[in-house]
Amino acid sequence: MQYVSTRGKAPVLSFDDVLLTGLARDGGLYLPESWPQFSADDIRDLRGLSYAQMAVKVMYPFVEGCIPLDDFTGLVEDAYKEFGHPAVAPLKQLDSDQWVMELFHGPTLAFKDYALQLLGRLFDYTLKKRGEHVTIVGATSGDTGSAAIEACRDRECIDIFIMHPKGRVSDVQRRQMTTVQSENVHNIAVEGTFDDCQDAVKAMFNDMDFRDKYNLSAVNSINWARIMAQIAYYFWAAVQLGAPERSMRFSVPTGNFGNVFAGYCAKKMGLPIDGFIIGSNRNDILTRYFQTGVMKMETVEPSLSPSMDIQISSNFERLLAQVYDKDGSALTQALAEFRDTGEVDFGETRWKAMCADFSAQRFDDAQTKDAIQSFYKNTGELLDPHSVIGCAAARDGGKVDAVTVSLATAHPAKFPAAVKEASGIHPDLPERLSDLFDRPERFDVLANDLGQIQSYIEKTLA
Ligand SMILES: *Cc1c(COP(=O)(O)O)cnc(C)c1O
Repeated sequence: MQYVSTRGKAPVLSFDDVLLTGLARDGGLYLPESWPQFSADDIRDLRGLSYAQMAVKVMYPFVEGCIPLDDFTGLVEDAYKEFGHPAVAPLKQLDSDQWVMELFHGPTLAFKDYALQLLGRLFDYTLKKRGEHVTIVGATSGDTGSAAIEACRDRECIDIFIMHPKGRVSDVQRRQMTTVQSENVHNIAVEGTFDDCQDAVKAMFNDMDFRDKYNLSAVNSINWARIMAQIAYYFWAAVQLGAPERSMRFSVPTGNFGNVFAGYCAKKMGLPIDGFIIGSNRNDILTRYFQTGVMKMETVEPSLSPSMDIQISSNFERLLAQVYDKDGSALTQALAEFRDTGEVDFGETRWKAMCADFSAQRFDDAQTKDAIQSFYKNTGELLDPHSVIGCAAARDGGKVDAVTVSLATAHPAKFPAAVKEASGIHPDLPERLSDLFDRPERFDVLANDLGQIQSYIEKTLA
């Protein structure tokens, strides 16, 4: 499989280069040149497989030619073997036609583990083969940092530096990062905000000498391999619930659009999916777009579901590339207009084409808490403030003659305060993390100063 940039001006790359490159040189995101096709019989053949076995079958066409099947199978089996539930992504029934897929059984209790556990292994495998080493630097406001650290810990060819704003992430989130005792994991608490951390990362990537000297790399959600790994659980849910004979909808609590875009890829590959419902919090740029046809930037307000507090959904560009039908220059122009004016209309034909597959719902904090309470009362399921937005969007998203699967993206114990306030129940951490608050922490505090951060990285790597 070869990969092309959404903006059409970057070199065509193979899977392993796309994996290590992240963002394309023309500023675009990589997509496969064509969609592997699964016929009804191919989908029937997935029945009865374990999660990892199915994931191998779904993903292999994307890596074929770069990684031998036996090696890839080993990496995938290894990525999911320590998940906290034997089904890996179990499905639970909420109503006669409503299901929830729990994607929080990985090491850090958020759906990001499903992609990052594999990504860390793919990085290590590919780097070893090439005899290279990378330094991953990232900034986190919560979930991504811990999932990236768990994915990269103890991997020979990787050092990982994660910056978090000192005192501004939750105790659970900080401890999930700082209690990892691995030689190659380096936590930095920056005396500043999340934006300061993010700016420091960008500045290091723009410092070409530094970037090349330490072979900097990133594992953020624009990496194609993350999308690829997420496609697997759409197939998983559909096959458990009767695909290809039965089609269904998916409802996804959405921020950067990476998770729901993976579902769209599954549909492009032949999985019978009737449509996607996007759930947003008060930061509802996508909901407003699908409802009005105009994409308009607004300032980000903190909400109960911080991992969906975004201003721009970076992966939305991948969907736009489909409706721009490979016209990379027109897409580049539209995105430049959006960046310059804070507003863009991609045209009615394209908007209607996207509305055929996507609809969207918004829930503010009060509605989010109400929904946590009502799902708990009616079904006994305790949902976190992200997951509940998916479930509530499915519930309110119009009655259709189809099953809807909502994606639960975080364990309720990651957000205990909001869950307790809404439901009266304090969600406990799973057994394997129950001693999180007794584990020793390891991190260094640095001033919000690029020079200091860079020399810290230099000294650590020396
Ligand atoms: C990252 C995250 C999301 C948003 O997913 P996107 O792929 O960015 O749309 C939703 N919920 C949780 C818990 C997350 O960590």
